Amino acid sequence: MIVKSIQSPSKYIQGSGVLLKLESYIESLGKSFLVVADPFVVDQAKEKIGKSFQSSEKEVSFEKFNGECTKSEIDRLIEIVKAKKAEAVVAIGGGKTLDTVKAIGYYTSLPVVIIPTLASCDAPCTALTVIYTEKGEFSEYLFLPHNPDMVIVDTDIIVKAPVKFLAAGMGDAFATYYEARACYKANAKNLVGTKITKAAMALAELCHETLLADGVKAKLSNEKGVLTKALENIIEANIYLSGVGAESSGLAAAHAISNGLTVLTELHRVSHGEKVAFGTLVQLVLEDAPIEEIKQAIEFMVNIGLPVSLEDMGVNVINKEAIMKVAESSCAEGDTMHNMPFDVDVESVYGAIIVANEIGKQFK
Ligand SMILES: [Zn+2]
Repeated sequence: MIVKSIQSPSKYIQGSGVLLKLESYIESLGKSFLVVADPFVVDQAKEKIGKSFQSSEKEVSFEKFNGECTKSEIDRLIEIVKAKKAEAVVAIGGGKTLDTVKAIGYYTSLPVVIIPTLASCDAPCTALTVIYTEKGEFSEYLFLPHNPDMVIVDTDIIVKAPVKFLAAGMGDAFATYYEARACYKANAKNLVGTKITKAAMALAELCHETLLADGVKAKLSNEKGVLTKALENIIEANIYLSGVGAESSGLAAAHAISNGLTVLTELHRVSHGEKVAFGTLVQLVLEDAPIEEIKQAIEFMVNIGLPVSLEDMGVNVINKEAIMKVAESSCAEGDTMHNMPFDVDVESVYGAIIVANEIGKQFK
């Protein structure tokens, strides 16, 4: 039996100043709300969300997120949810805050409202939480039965964030189409274990078109701290099209390479989106994609300020043994490398990394 599916948040709302109207969007979800906020945004959240609840009978309380998505932080916040008798949980902040609140929603069976303050990753829209240990190391994936009830994006907040976050988000979003295309060709499964719908493929394609059309303009907008249509389009591409597209149309070599690159300690400071960008270039070489397509991808990444070589990410000496380890780790059992529509082995991945690095340096 062939089962296809696409899933997404029940509602996605994006606009300038929407945080000031939060109460009107979420009031149907319950009588009392607990807002979990990143420390740097908690004052702004209290002011704006407080204002929107001013003439409401609903209750809203605030709690600071402690900085890491761990089991103990999830448990601590669940106790607060119970003590406050909250009927819905709201997250405002970066990926780890959002992931923590998604897990709280799952364990308490309460509705979840997500308010991302960055457009840097796929965390807002997906049904997945990445749990870390107290030391900040990866612990486990928590697959959730459904996506957040609402994702509310206030573009006034995103436009004020440093541009490196938007650029990283574009790196992650840029891989979506190439990985979806590979999964579709391979008849592979998406991240929720079903086959890929035409709707999910269309979102991945639209994500790609939007990045090529508006990426550079959006980067300049963000640098100057002004909102433009291009920036609005890229915020939607990074948060919605990339998140829903990747979850429902699957991941392949680009993300597997990005996971493999984490074995290089000198790359620990490089963001997920930057590693995925270079991973996309490696995937194109692995696929033997036409040189025009590779050039187009490199031009996009260079214009956005994304890395196109190992050197760009801070690897100054190319050590065969180390790159072989990256290739081995990318081909680990269960990683998405095996969603490519042809047989892939460690040697072919090693070769693709070396050649992608050279092509990146040459065309830059
Ligand atoms: Zn990603």
